[in-house]
Amino acid sequence: MKFVEVSPGVAQVRSGPLPELREGEGRVRVLACGLCGTDVHLFKGMQLPPNATYPVRPGHEVAGILIEARGTTSIELGSLVVLHIFEVCQECDACLSSNEQRCESQRILGIHAPGGMADSVTWPLSRMVAVGDIDPLSAALLPDAAATAHHALRLADPGDGPLCVIGAGGVGSNVLRLSTILYPEAVLVAIVRRPESALALENLAKTVIGLEGSAKQVKKVVGECAAVVDFSGSALAAAEGVRMLKRGGRLILGSVSEEPLDIRMPVVGVVSRELDIMGCYGSTMKDLRTVCSLAESGSFDVGSSVSSVIDLASVPNVLRAHAEGSAAGGRAVIVPDQVSSV
Ligand SMILES: [Zn+2]
Ligand SMILES: [Zn+2]
Repeated sequence: MKFVEVSPGVAQVRSGPLPELREGEGRVRVLACGLCGTDVHLFKGMQLPPNATYPVRPGHEVAGILIEARGTTSIELGSLVVLHIFEVCQECDACLSSNEQRCESQRILGIHAPGGMADSVTWPLSRMVAVGDIDPLSAALLPDAAATAHHALRLADPGDGPLCVIGAGGVGSNVLRLSTILYPEAVLVAIVRRPESALALENLAKTVIGLEGSAKQVKKVVGECAAVVDFSGSALAAAEGVRMLKRGGRLILGSVSEEPLDIRMPVVGVVSRELDIMGCYGSTMKDLRTVCSLAESGSFDVGSSVSSVIDLASVPNVLRAHAEGSAAGGRAVIVPDQVSSV
């Protein structure tokens, strides 16, 4: 089989033997795999989570055909499936309470386990969802850009809103899209960097351009917010976000960052207004199943963010271009060369 292997500063396409399936696992022929910011961070040499080591075989946004299964599953061979990003123990308190994103034994596809930038991938059958006849390019965006957005929206629970999304990229724009379906009454506002992004969101949300000073702008445009969700990756987002909230409001932080959390607000500001500040990490199988059925029903279109389709051989150059900041914006999706597939 062919796969992409990444060490800090080095990415290459390699060949190796097909791994044996363990009990409970399935083999998936990869039809599409998203290339996301995390993959670029891996190439740049980010600090890996516990129990992971370089080199890694990236690719955690995978859609493909289930071609072999060892163990029982309700999914028929030949079905299009997407893979949940986490493999989990299924027996700790977090797993048993359907909060498996908090499982301490979790393994991440494309970091701990060989990922989907390959012609095939093996993964627990219990962490796959069949998705009918969705376009595989769109399906590949469901496990991360959509399921994570659903998790964040569930935590934000904005009711009638207003809901503010800071950073309307892959995940953030899906928070807005899902909100129009699940919270149709909620007034939406998004903080974006560039006027082009504001234009792209024209039919979805009101927009404010530029993060600095955005809390004041948001209050002018929609009033105080019931919830704010941040996927901007900016250290300033928490300080602006917390100032947008009404009493009892929730700030959901979804960007992974090494920066200190600095809300630049006296403790009394949080206490007297009973503000709720919480983290949002990945998603659960429930989140993935929900976005899959919304996509299958046609009410949720995740595919509009795909900007380019590349083959496996191009991945090293594309990673390098992203790391150097010379890549085009939007989301690249990898379609492995089917001739070399299993
Ligand atoms: Zn991703
Ligand atoms: Zn667990």
